[in-house]
Amino acid sequence: MNLTILGSTGSIGVSTLDVVARHPERYRVTALTAQCRDDVLFAQCLRFRPKYAVLLDEAAAARLARNIAEANLDTEVLCGAEALAQVAALPEVDAVMAAIVGAAGLRPTLAAARTGKKILLANKETLVMAGAVFMDAVRAGGAVLLPIDSEHNAVFQSLPHHYAGDMAASGVSRILLTASGGPFRNTPLSELENVTPEQACAHPNWSMGRKISVDSATMMNKGLEVIEAHWLFNAPADAIDVVVHPQSVIHSLVQYVDGSVLAQLGNPDMRTPIAYALAWPERIEAGVAPLDLITVARLDFAAPDFQRFPCLGLAYQALRAGGTAPAILNAANEIAVAAFLDGAIPFLAIPRVLETVLEKLPVSAANSLDDVLEADVAARAAAHKVMEDRA
Ligand code: NAD
Ligand code: MG
Repeated sequence: MNLTILGSTGSIGVSTLDVVARHPERYRVTALTAQCRDDVLFAQCLRFRPKYAVLLDEAAAARLARNIAEANLDTEVLCGAEALAQVAALPEVDAVMAAIVGAAGLRPTLAAARTGKKILLANKETLVMAGAVFMDAVRAGGAVLLPIDSEHNAVFQSLPHHYAGDMAASGVSRILLTASGGPFRNTPLSELENVTPEQACAHPNWSMGRKISVDSATMMNKGLEVIEAHWLFNAPADAIDVVVHPQSVIHSLVQYVDGSVLAQLGNPDMRTPIAYALAWPERIEAGVAPLDLITVARLDFAAPDFQRFPCLGLAYQALRAGGTAPAILNAANEIAVAAFLDGAIPFLAIPRVLETVLEKLPVSAANSLDDVLEADVAARAAAHKVMEDRA
């Protein structure tokens, strides 16, 4: 199977290459892409010998091209956003790992959908921003969509094999997404105002990129995942629950009308969902330590605290509002999280910025990519304006 890995230098990208390297007879890397880390991408090129390597940044691409030439590799170096979409749509590519973070992942992931690839979807922002447009492209292009997000991968594994988006016909009553609660689950509210980006990025169970780590700390990540689950499984907001489960051993559950609840369990290691999606419908070794329930000893559950984590409620609200509301929420969140990581706003300002932007911007239909991108641009501008007005 020939693979394009979008975002190969990130947390998911590196885990994907780790699984791929365990099965050289099954997988060949056709293209690797990154934003600007040409040193990491070069090391990956030496190891995996892709046909193409893409960098968003021009200077980084020039450096990579020099190194590739000196090393006498056969890899062609491309540069820019258009090239990302191009390597996602190559005729010789069978599967695309969509592991770019944020809205930047939308266009290349859409290109993979339109050209009928097997899509391993880590970039949840694609579904949050453009759920209807993307799911239409998947259907029209004949693509196969497999979720990488651990919760959605767990739901996918717990649904009937031929589930086709009809909960009632499959006897499914609810989808239960587990949430660790992040690093601030028990932090006194009075201390949250002054938490640093380093504290926010120190997730108790998962090691991830900085943006999703902050999203986990605000629980916006779970909010984005509720929206993601809506599109993946055609589930209404009212049928998707969030359950706080601090051990991150149960990755999510499906409740059936007969009272059965099916779940997928495992150690918190993204190589499990990655390997599952790579090999689906088969199973392959992923390098993940077997789960030892005796060591885990106990599994705890609690209701989410919507007061402590207003972002979760805002995501439900945006999903219910529909249209461009989730795209507005996502864009404002990307700006607010980047500002927090830069030290420009305090942690608790993140939900306040989002709430104000959602109040200010009108929601409209999201029937085309242009509708979505227009809302995205407007929400980014509005988020900057809100932060300036408060400064
Ligand atoms: P990361 O920050 O570690 O890596 C992001 C990757 O995207 C890097 O390769 C980077 O070079 C590339 N990238 C960033 N901005 C880009 C741009 N503008 N254009 C092109 N490439 C760009 O992030 P991550 O933790 O690997 O997460 C990737 C995606 O997977 C996110 O959407 C995240 O929500 C999702 N996800 C991650 C995890 C996890 O455990 N890390 C779990 C579930 C879902
Ligand atoms: Mg997740």
